Amino acid sequence: MHSLKALIREVPDFPKPGINFYDITTLLKDKHGLQQTIDLLCEQYGDTQPDIVIGIEARGFIFAPAIAYELGAGFVPVRKPKKLPAPCERVEYALEYGSDILEIHRDSIEPGQKVLIIDDVLATGGTAAAVAKLTEILGGKVLGLGFVMELEFLHGRDRLAGYDVFSLLKY
Ligand code: AMP
Repeated sequence: MHSLKALIREVPDFPKPGINFYDITTLLKDKHGLQQTIDLLCEQYGDTQPDIVIGIEARGFIFAPAIAYELGAGFVPVRKPKKLPAPCERVEYALEYGSDILEIHRDSIEPGQKVLIIDDVLATGGTAAAVAKLTEILGGKVLGLGFVMELEFLHGRDRLAGYDVFSLLKY
């Protein structure tokens, strides 16, 4: 696990002053790092038999399809507004300053399907909580939320109380 942390590049003051950005491109280009990250996430969820793995735009799209493939599930994208072409459900959620919107295709999850939600970083938890809400609006059952990294000092888990939350690397 320590070796995976060593593959993640920390970029201070990106995209704005005071933010320490965790850059996964240095992990992704490492063949062992990429393989180990996907394997460890799949191991965590191997017994849960999800029907659907959701990836959150944009960096969730890198990990979720690989996990879905390995676990024999389908992949569903949750996207920023006006990107998905068919009828959508949408959820608006608060950011530190202002708000944001995420969308999912209405027909992407059938009621009762078991859904795993994947993203790269759990920060404040606002994004992940919004995606859990979208899943439930469509009648999906949230099996768990999985992340490569968790920024524990932001207490994102508190926003996700009641859900199974897993992260590979904690900061
Ligand atoms: P949040 O809603 O605060 O949990 O933010 C989660 C989203 O923002 C994730 O999709 C992350 O990709 C991104 N994010 C937040 N903070 C960071 C950070 N310090 N480094 C890299 N990505 C981040």
